[in-house]
Amino acid sequence: MIVLACDLGGTRMKIGVVRDGCVLTQTVKPAQSKKGLAPQLPVLKAAWLQLLQKLKLSLTDCAGVSVGFPSLVDTVAGRVLAEYGKYADAMALDLRAWSQAELGLPLAIENDARMALIGEWKSGAGRGVSNLVMITLGTGLGTCALIEGRVMRGCHGQAGVLGGHFTVRYGGRLCSCGNLGCAEAEASTAFLGDVAATQPEWDSSSLYQAATLNYALVFKAAAAGDPCALKLREHSLQVWSSLAVNLIHAYDPEKLILGGGIMSCADIVLPSIREYVLRFAHTPWGKISVVPSELGDTAALLAGEWLLREQFPELEK
Ligand SMILES: [Zn+2]
Repeated sequence: MIVLACDLGGTRMKIGVVRDGCVLTQTVKPAQSKKGLAPQLPVLKAAWLQLLQKLKLSLTDCAGVSVGFPSLVDTVAGRVLAEYGKYADAMALDLRAWSQAELGLPLAIENDARMALIGEWKSGAGRGVSNLVMITLGTGLGTCALIEGRVMRGCHGQAGVLGGHFTVRYGGRLCSCGNLGCAEAEASTAFLGDVAATQPEWDSSSLYQAATLNYALVFKAAAAGDPCALKLREHSLQVWSSLAVNLIHAYDPEKLILGGGIMSCADIVLPSIREYVLRFAHTPWGKISVVPSELGDTAALLAGEWLLREQFPELEK
């Protein structure tokens, strides 16, 4: 089955052509998600047509389109259910109608963290495992759970994907979701500047000069002994570790997969979360395996085939 896949991030759109668990070719385009999704639809179409041309394939060779979207999604209706400052117009768009009209193909859409987990389950770090939890550490914090071989969705598509909005600090920072003290509001790239600015050492920190703050800079400054960066590193690792324990207690996985852009600093993040989890998670059955994503950015693209088969069982091209 050949699938036109995309993973719509807040800052980058990852676009690819997928077949039999392999990304045949892919490209990345700036998302400009603040301007909405409608202006990006022609960009997606043009990118796919270009990738197909490169592969000497045409639209008639393809079975469908898959979209990983950074929000809550109704997979059955194929609609976006909420927006959090990214692609604010998406709820009003009929993406299936667009796909049929412009590409002549059915379209399946799912939450991006769920897509990442499905990709890892089918082709990556979660192969052969039926009970998984994944956290993507990045601009926001994405989560997803697979329980007894079933992707957890719940009544409104919310189950498992709101881990970033588990309360990890009672009475803490106001989150974009409206809750207080969410993991995402306490330690994600989107909130990093706000959290840094509340530190007493902020004005004298080397990070103060950075045009855009990110975790790679924080970890580098922390390694050089910067007091503000050291506090941010410790705080963030504690938040992510606490979230990991919460997810393990909630969903009883065999394995926890860590992905997302911040895992480019896996040498710092992975041992810290692993150590905390092994010490504090209540797993009387044994030790949970805490592993990095194997597929990185391609996980959500590779999930496209599985999602299309699930949503359109009649497809078998
Ligand atoms: Zn929240």
